[in-house]
Amino acid sequence: MSESLASGLSAVVSDGERVVTSPAVVERLSKDFYWYSPILKRQLEAKHGDVAVQPVSVDEVVAIMRYAGQQGIPVTVRGAGTGNYGQCIPLEGGIILDLALMDKIEEITADGVAVCQPGLKLGVLETEARKQGWELRMYPSTLAKASVGGFLAGGSGGIGSVTHGGLRDFDNVRAIEVVTMEEEPRMILHEGPAVHEIMHSWGTNGVITRIWFSLTPAVEWTQFTVAFDTYEEGFLFARQIAESGEWSKRLVTVFEWPIPSFFTPVKQVVAADKTLVLIMIEASQLEMLREAAGAANGEVTFAGAYTGPRTQPLLSDYTWNHTTLWAMKADPVWTYIQAGFSTTNCMEQFRLLREKYGKEILFHIEFMKNGEGVVVPAAIPLVYFTTEERLNELIAYCREIGVFIANPHVNYLEDGGRFRSDNIQLMAKQKYDPRGLMNPGKMLSFQMERRPK
Ligand SMILES: Cc1cc2nc3c(=O)[nH]c(=O)nc-3n(C[C@H](O)[C@H](O)[C@H](O)COP(=O)(O)OP(=O)(O)OC[C@H]3O[C@@H](n4cnc5c(N)ncnc54)[C@H](O)[C@@H]3O)c2cc1C
Repeated sequence: MSESLASGLSAVVSDGERVVTSPAVVERLSKDFYWYSPILKRQLEAKHGDVAVQPVSVDEVVAIMRYAGQQGIPVTVRGAGTGNYGQCIPLEGGIILDLALMDKIEEITADGVAVCQPGLKLGVLETEARKQGWELRMYPSTLAKASVGGFLAGGSGGIGSVTHGGLRDFDNVRAIEVVTMEEEPRMILHEGPAVHEIMHSWGTNGVITRIWFSLTPAVEWTQFTVAFDTYEEGFLFARQIAESGEWSKRLVTVFEWPIPSFFTPVKQVVAADKTLVLIMIEASQLEMLREAAGAANGEVTFAGAYTGPRTQPLLSDYTWNHTTLWAMKADPVWTYIQAGFSTTNCMEQFRLLREKYGKEILFHIEFMKNGEGVVVPAAIPLVYFTTEERLNELIAYCREIGVFIANPHVNYLEDGGRFRSDNIQLMAKQKYDPRGLMNPGKMLSFQMERRPK
């Protein structure tokens, strides 16, 4: 199958060198960070595509989709493969559509919109935008590696979300151009609310080939860390900074002890036995923040300029889902959940979880603005893994006490927390991929509709 598939693909791209058949490379291009979850690790490690192809233009994407459709071969799109849930791991083999070579910035408009290709690295866009007086509104902690297309199709938010909300909020994504998997593939422009048909759909209902991504005027940022004796003190200080419109900030994170002990390359910012709060603050507010931290009995452990993705140390490398990575480096038994605590009742939720699970769960908070403009304590708590039953019990308990959970231990969209209740992603799949060839198995509601009654 791989040989005939490779020769078929070689006929539709201008250079056969961009059809990859080496088993080791195909295996690498078939995988992401699915091993963050001990459950997905077991389920997905044997899965891989048959052949990878690296288009350089939208015309080539259309030709590949047409060929795959005619042959009935599944297509799984790949950005940079930094997703956490096996999003880009093909469950039924077939073609890996690797968009890494479609990586150009076409334009940064005078009103701050980046028009770019999907394989562009977010870090490159941040650097180029800052040269022109703009910066990303938000980015995942995988800034250096992740692609713009992969972020839109698989991510949710990150550094910047405390001010600008998630990817799906506040017109952060203005428009996307998508190639479909219809009998004759089409290129369709989705503007305004129509972007939500495709965003966070894991490449199940179209290939994103061009993006209009909103930027914001660049700010001179300082990275700032402050340590507190207790988690409660650290959390309350961070919440006040996150919620108040007085502060111009890009990141407000809380790590309870012993999470900071996992950050071995930046030992200098860690204070033993203390909760660490990390804030990216506008440089002009640094002295005011120092005073506020002192007044709250915090011990300032670091303050240093952010000058772009190459800043050293780059403290965002310890936030969002990088925190889990550092924990797993210290002890591979750590895993995580993705949570949203209540704005009004979070202290009680923390207490209940501590009472029932002790230090089996460690609190890691990432404040973010929701679509209504309210700053909420989103969280990526660490969980000391023992069994799948125990993990599911913890998730069920969180839900019982009102903690929102986007389950990162499943490989389908519906339980991942970003599947829309108005079903527009499903309706788009029915329209644009009626044969179910795009990343099959990841949108369960579509599979169910196809099943004979
Ligand atoms: C250490 C670590 C930290 C992370 N931190 C964050 C974070 O802060 N915030 C966050 O939101 N996520 C985070 N993630 C998850 C992940 O990094 C982001 O979702 C990232 O943006 C994915 O980009 P990628 O290019 O690697 O996408 P990939 O992993 O390649 O793809 C993600 C999904 O999108 C699909 N896809 C890719 N490109 C396209 C396209 N052009 N058209 C259609 N479908 C496409 C793929 O099929 C797949 O389903 C983190 C992951 C890790 C490992």
